[in-house]
Parts: sequence; C-alpha cells; structure tokens
Amino acid sequence: MNSCADDRGYRNGMGTVREASKTTGFSPQSLNDSLDEDGRSFLTDEDQLHTFDDLTKVNPVTPATVLKCLQARYSAKVFYTHAGCTLVALNPFQPIPYLYSLDVMKEYHCSPQPQESKPHIFIVAEEAYRNVKGQLEPVNQSLVVSGESGAGKTWTSRCLMKYYSTVAASSSVIKSQNTVQRIERRVLDSNPIMEAFGNACTLRNNNSSRFGKYIQLQLDRSHLLVGASVHTYLLEKTRVAFQPAGERNFHIFYQVMKGATTDQRREWKMPNNESFVWLPNAEKILEEDCFEETLEAMGHLGIDSERQREIFRILAGILQLGNVVFSFPSDDSQPCDLEKTSKGYLQSAAELFGVAAEELEACLRVRTLKAGKQSVLKPCSQTECNMRRDCLAKVIYASKDHPGFNLYQKGRLLLFLLHYPPHRLFEWLVTFINNSMCTDTSTWSNFIGVLDVYGFECFQLNNLEQLCINYANEKLQQHFVSHYLKAQQEEYVSEGLEWSFVKYQDNQSCLDLIEGTPMSVFSLLNEESRLNRASDAKMLRVRLEKELSENRNISWDKFSQEPHFTVAHYAGKVNYQLQGMVEKNKDPVPPELINMLQKSNNGLLHQVFAAPEEGNQTTKGPSKVTVVSKFKNSLESLMRILNSTTPHYTRCIKPNQDCKPLTFKKEDVIMQLEACGIVETIHISAAGFPVRIPFESFIQRYGVILKYPKLKSAHFVDWTNENCNVRKDVGKVLSVVLEQDDLLQTTDEKHNSLVHCGK
Ligand code: ADP
Ligand code: MG
Repeated sequence: MNSCADDRGYRNGMGTVREASKTTGFSPQSLNDSLDEDGRSFLTDEDQLHTFDDLTKVNPVTPATVLKCLQARYSAKVFYTHAGCTLVALNPFQPIPYLYSLDVMKEYHCSPQPQESKPHIFIVAEEAYRNVKGQLEPVNQSLVVSGESGAGKTWTSRCLMKYYSTVAASSSVIKSQNTVQRIERRVLDSNPIMEAFGNACTLRNNNSSRFGKYIQLQLDRSHLLVGASVHTYLLEKTRVAFQPAGERNFHIFYQVMKGATTDQRREWKMPNNESFVWLPNAEKILEEDCFEETLEAMGHLGIDSERQREIFRILAGILQLGNVVFSFPSDDSQPCDLEKTSKGYLQSAAELFGVAAEELEACLRVRTLKAGKQSVLKPCSQTECNMRRDCLAKVIYASKDHPGFNLYQKGRLLLFLLHYPPHRLFEWLVTFINNSMCTDTSTWSNFIGVLDVYGFECFQLNNLEQLCINYANEKLQQHFVSHYLKAQQEEYVSEGLEWSFVKYQDNQSCLDLIEGTPMSVFSLLNEESRLNRASDAKMLRVRLEKELSENRNISWDKFSQEPHFTVAHYAGKVNYQLQGMVEKNKDPVPPELINMLQKSNNGLLHQVFAAPEEGNQTTKGPSKVTVVSKFKNSLESLMRILNSTTPHYTRCIKPNQDCKPLTFKKEDVIMQLEACGIVETIHISAAGFPVRIPFESFIQRYGVILKYPKLKSAHFVDWTNENCNVRKDVGKVLSVVLEQDDLLQTTDEKHNSLVHCGK
C-alpha cells in the first residue's frame, strides 16, 4: 500500500465531509450535503462551480472543466482546492490576512476533522502533523511544494513553518521553557536571512528564490517543535556578477545599500552617490529591501555584531569589485591593464576583503602556470581578467553546491553537514543557521520536511542552471508519479476492482537521457569537462547526437547555427544552448584567488577559505567534481529522504504572468496544470473511488443495516456473502458514497463501479 496522504482516511477526497461519529470519522450527512439532488456530483449549474472543493468531483474531468471550476473559485476568492491527494493553491497576488490568522490556524488545528473545513494549506499541514502524532509507529512527513517561479511556493513554505511554530510550540509548558521558545523564533528568523542572501527580484517574481531548500522541522516525542535544519540546493551564484536585463542582484546588497547608517557607509565605502555595476535596478522599491529585519534576525540567531560587520564588509567588497574594469593591453606581452578609474575600486575591494591590493591586482591580471617545479607567469587577456573578477565574486559568495552527501542514514536525516567545514559565505550562513536551530538527534524523534524548490524553467536562452533545475523537477515528478499515480492504480488491481488504466506520462526515459548510465547528457558533459579542450560546445553537440539520438526525448533544430539540444520534459520542450555549458560544469577557480583569500584578515573570509579545498581546481590540476555530479548526488540524497516519508503535495499555480492581483488568465493556468500533471491526477482520482474509508470504520458505521432485513434484501447488503468484493483487511480503503437513505452506492456511474458489498 502506498503511503500517500489520504490513504489513512484523514481526507477522503470529498473535501467537505463533516464528521458524524468520532469512531468512524465519517459523515453521511455531509456527503449528502455535497451532492446534488440526484446524489450525483456532476457539474450542471455553473453558478455552483465555485462550491466544488475537490476537482475530482468535476465531471467529466477535462482540462476545460477543471479550469472552469478553478476560475469560478478564484473569482469567488477561494484560493485552495483539493485535487485528490494534491492541494492546488492559486496565488491571489494580494494579502489575504483573514486566511492565515492565528484564529484560522487554531480552527484547523483544533478541529476533530480538519478536512471538514474549506480546503486550505493548513489542512495539509494538520494532516501531516496528525500523521506524525497519531500512528503507533509514526512516519516522517514531507510537504512537497511545487510550481513555477512566482506561483507561491516560498509563501506556502513560510505559512507551513508559521503553522508548526504556532501549533507545535504553543502549549504553556513550552512557553515556560526558554530554549524551546527560542527554537520556534529561530526557525522563523531563518527565513528573512536566507531570503536576503538567496532571493532576488527577477522578471517573474520580485522575491524569487534562487536556491532550493528542504527544511526539516524536528519534533520530540510529545510532537513539539524542538529544532530544525535546512538543506539548500544549487544557489544561482552567477547572479552575484551577472544580472539579466531588468533583474537584480540578491536582496542583501540592496538592503545594505539602502539601510546602512552614515558610519557604516563610510566604513563600507558606500557613499550615497555611488553607483555599482552589480547593483542594477536599485531604484526599484521593494518590501524585501528591509535591512533592519535581516539584522534583527541575524541577532536572534546569534550572529554577533563583529561577524555581521565582516559579512557586510565582504558584500561591500564584492560591489567594489564589480566596478573594476580592464582595458585592452597595448602590447600582447603585457598583462591587461586596469582602467584608470578602477584603481580606487580595486583598492577598496582589497581593503574590504582584507587582502593586499597588489596581490588582488596580480591575481586578476596574471595567471601562474606550473611547469614541473617551476612557475611561469602569463598575462591574462581582457576576457580572462573579467572572468577572474567574476569568479572571485562568485567563489566568495557561494560554493558549487552545499555538501549534501551522506545526509541520510537509518531512516533519518543526519546532520553531517554540521561537521563539514563551512564553505563560502552562503553556506557559512546556512551552516550557522543550522547550528543554531538544530537539536541533538536524541532530542527529536520525528520530522516534518518542507520542500520548496525552483519550478520548471524555460527561457529563451537556457543553460546548465535550467538543465539542473528541470532535472530536479523531473525527479520530483517521477517521485509523484511513482508514489501516487502508480500506487493508486496498483491498489485498485490488488483490490480486485475493475479498472481501466489511465495513461500517465512516465518520465523515466527523460531521466535516462539526462542522468542515465553509461551514456547521458550528464555523463557526456562530465567527459567533455574532463578533457578540457577548446571548442567543447561543438564537440559535445556531436557526441550528444552520436550517443543519444536513440532517446525519444532529445532532438535538434537542424537549421540552428548555435550548438544546442532540445529536451522534451514532462512539462514541455526546452532548448539548451551548449555554449559555455562545459565551463559552467567545471566551475574552475584559479588557485591564486584561493591562496589570496586564505590569507585574508577578514575573520570570516579567512575561516571559510582556510578549509582544504574540495571540488575546486587546485594547483594539481582541474577537479573531477563537476557541478552536475554534485547536484545529482545531493538530489539523490533528497530523493532518499522523500522516499522514506509520507508525501503531501501542494501545487502552486500562478494565475497570471504579470503578478496582478485577482487576475485569472486561463491560458497561463492550463499550461501549469498540464505541466505539473494535475489533470492526470484528477482524472485518476475521479475515475477511481473518490470517497475512501477504512473497512473497519465502514463496518462500524454501516453494520447497523444488517439489523434491517428489509433494507438488507432490498439493497443487497450481505456481509456474509462470499461475493463480497470488499477486502476485509483492516485499514484497507474502499470508496463508497451514500444515498440519502444511507445505502451504498458509488458516485461514479460513468465507470459503473458500484462497490459490491454483496450482489
Ligand atoms: P515562488 O516561491 O513560487 O517563486 P513566492 O512564494 O515568492 O513564489 O510568491 C510570489 C509572490 O506572490 C509573493 O511575494 C506574494 O506577494 C504573492 N503570494 C504568493 N502566495 C500568496 C498568498 N497565499 N497570499 C498572498 N500573496 C501571495
Ligand atoms: Mg520561492
């Protein structure tokens, strides 16, 4: 039996079922309430569309009917809708305070049957919480929040964290204990810090997360929140040194620029009138530009003022570095020179990084080549100088990926990352946050994990970043398919129920294409990265076609001049350019830069670079650890965690691309519904049995019918009959719905699938 959320009977797919009896947890009355006069749930009256709490009740289930229903609900300001075991969340793009108030949290938390209430993210939260609480052998839970950029994933994750910080830490006993109280505060305070350093304003979302995260909320035996840890995935660090047109750098840079005091500005060399190349669109006023909040959160988490000063000096140094410009050398044998105006910026950057200005300049302009025991100095071209400058900014800000290996052991997420040497600024922060939130593994017994990862991306130009992001989405989609769609169908088969298989898109072939062995896009990319040859993009293009053209998910535009390949993802086709992909995969760091930073007298820089290099190019030669290998490993570790937990899916939908409040654009929504497989999910749930109750509860509640021979004979209920098609295992689910006279009949006449409790 798969472990999908509603198999435990918490939610039974009807969405509006009210409780009639605590012993059964099942309410006939409410079922009747939710049906029309014929006892059917067919969509006939368009005025009533918004009342359908579960898309599985829409009949027939087609993208068009589902869309209509969602649109009607959105117009009625109803933003959450069940779709079988998935919750669909439509982004209102407008604060809806009443929806997330403390009272509403309490209502869902205290309700004997929260699922009786309107669909809400708190139902999912509560369901997961009760799963941890209610079982003899509690199962860890994962709340997977997906959707495209700007759909509301991070908002939803924050809601979930607030919910648990409230309901799992609100008892008076907790409040009297200082340490625990601090933990819940810290869990919430980790958000503004991580968002300041890892989120940015993009064309799609003013507060776009540029990294993925899995937050593990740790509960003790009394199911109270005693700690948390966060694991991050692939921060888009290129943004530090390159911001796409119309987009911005990470929020923190703007926060410092706008929020620093006069003294701080002086110390960090940020006069009011200075303009920084790496700080575009600074005139945009965003609520995310709140330095105060970040400082306060840092203080709460225990980052002392000296550390904070070091962090801001590093950030200020990066901004100075961005203004350093190189000119063409007059003579080829000479190193490329600094523009006159750049000398001051370089000087300031060196001062803020705590390194010697001469060494910084030399590192940027001259390459050291090792030939045996001898070193040869080679001047860099203008392009190389620029690359070194950008590389320095990126390597200070973040590493290739957070060390994410061996996190999982013996059914539990072990915090190995705490014992890893901290990597770069971002990872140092994540590690610090973890150290201040995480408790000893002996203190907590179970966890609820919240996964907020970047959604499927398809731009005009796509490169390694999009390949990794879309690969992650393929993995999650596969997880969803195997844990829900497949398992549900198998369940029907094992129950001996007649069932016509719904065709679902299995994306294994796409995953084989990207990550498979022995030949895949990743393996060829890694091979090319190891070979370290010029014209790598063209070579890679040739090899991809030679080795992978059998795979149906890859194709090429024969007329395109640029080396590229197209992948047919489950969510649509994406064209990836190969130019620069190998270099991005290698992510090389000139060893001179590392050597220099190791000597920094900025305490934090010194600390993060003091650790032996892992995965970067060293003087011994290029590293074999590539970006895709690291990413693949950390995703696999995530998948192992997800596979060991009961998943709950929330699909966030962005109702319009312009982020306009309360605006529903059908064409935008339908694409997302298809991209995240919602239509198939609804189809399966609806074609199957929308109401599920454990057999034991069923007997308890309806066994009474046996006492009425008239009813018994008239309505074919015969518990002793051998032909009873209901499996009698306790805990097995079956799907029935009642007519008004309490008799058994399924809703789904389309499939003629009466639940046969007799002939
Ligand atoms: P994602 O993480 O999916 O990229 P976000 O969670 O950052 O998207 O949401 C984008 C924006 O949409 C938020 O900044 C917020 O303004 C708005 N938003 C999202 N969900 C809600 C909600 N439930 N209520 C009100 N506004 C929301
Ligand atoms: Mg986000």
